[in-house]
Amino acid sequence: MASITEPLPGTSDIWEPETLDWITLENAARNVFHRYGYGEIRTPIFERTDVFVKSLGDETDVVQKEMYTFQDRGGRSLTLRPEGTAGVIRAIANAGLEQGEEKRVFYFGPMFRGERPAAGRRRQFHQVGVETVGSNNPWMDVEVIAMLCQFLDSIGITGSHVVVNTRGLPEDRARVTSALKEYFAPKVGEMCEDCRRRFDTNVWRMLDCKNEPCTTFAAGSPKIVDLLGEESRTFFEKVCQGLREVGVEYEFAPRLVRGLDYYIHTVFEVTHSGLGAQDALAGGGRYRIQFAGSKTPIEGIGFAAGMERLLLARQSLGITAPDVRDADIMVLGLGESAVLPALQLAQTLRGEFAGLRVKADFTGRSMKAQMRGANKARAQVALILGENELAQGTVVCKMMETSEQETIAINELNGFLATKLNAR
Ligand code: AMP
Repeated sequence: MASITEPLPGTSDIWEPETLDWITLENAARNVFHRYGYGEIRTPIFERTDVFVKSLGDETDVVQKEMYTFQDRGGRSLTLRPEGTAGVIRAIANAGLEQGEEKRVFYFGPMFRGERPAAGRRRQFHQVGVETVGSNNPWMDVEVIAMLCQFLDSIGITGSHVVVNTRGLPEDRARVTSALKEYFAPKVGEMCEDCRRRFDTNVWRMLDCKNEPCTTFAAGSPKIVDLLGEESRTFFEKVCQGLREVGVEYEFAPRLVRGLDYYIHTVFEVTHSGLGAQDALAGGGRYRIQFAGSKTPIEGIGFAAGMERLLLARQSLGITAPDVRDADIMVLGLGESAVLPALQLAQTLRGEFAGLRVKADFTGRSMKAQMRGANKARAQVALILGENELAQGTVVCKMMETSEQETIAINELNGFLATKLNAR
């Protein structure tokens, strides 16, 4: 049996230096999204189950098989968010949107799906995502996709592949559904169990299946765009034209539907060959969501990228977490009387050198043991305070790399360190 201290399957503890890599991604995302006028939103990690069921659709894999749903003490059904859009749109619906008002937000955070864990597939994973609501303009879709590409560029991810399709408007749906049904009807008996069910409940999802022979059958199905009405086709043409105009390289993927029911018009995905079997880096699209009690649906466009996968893609390109020391300066207090002065000196230095990590050794153990600690922390310098130094107002500075050692008057220490250390 697994030990209680082990994280659950599909979850992990993330340590430095990896956490520094996460911060790099978050800062890059903040920086890029800020330039497009997006502000950060933080919504709850759990919501009423209906927030997801009503927006993602009850026939979707996420809702059917993957949600972490539980009852609270009051008997309410709650769910850990499996994705970010539903909660953000709930928040916007709750805050109210003025007629014609546009809102642009981005978020980071953990998402939860009870999937079979595999490389790049976690049960708790993290997404960075954006939503723009209140604009039904195809140029907005173009801008959002271009922003995603700029974000990937800014974190050094080259070689990703953008695929785009359209699902058209809700009023086109019946026509597409019946054409797909007609196409799949003679084949459904040979298809997987999920597809046999989807044939009756949500035939569009048969295009998403990853099992053979379903994928082969799906590849020969009618193209969605050919079945759409004029308005939907014009919208999609503009999106494609805009992408070309802004220089986003993309491929038209006529059978991309993405898993969720709330999508209309544009859907897109970004894949990367460095990821292996789970090759999706990011996905998104335009959606229309209406919660019970809201007068009108909210239309928006957004995307989410998996943070773990962004990191994997960077690793595949040779970009690794920064190399950090546990301490740049280690203050050693030798003997009982030097422990408190060591703490005080460390405190002063932290005020002086904001970019450096300063640690003090409070153990009072032998010089040799404290030096070993300084070595282990890969400190650049050890500052040694013993009875003599305290009496004379000095400190012994030992440069760890060269073992050079100098006694410095305490009032000259800052200047000395400033010349010796690479402040980062
Ligand atoms: P989706 O909306 O399901 O396409 O998710 C958007 C992005 O989140 C995907 O492109 C992946 O990068 C990431 N993602 C989705 N599910 C998982 C998972 N189980 N583990 C890790 N990353 C995931």
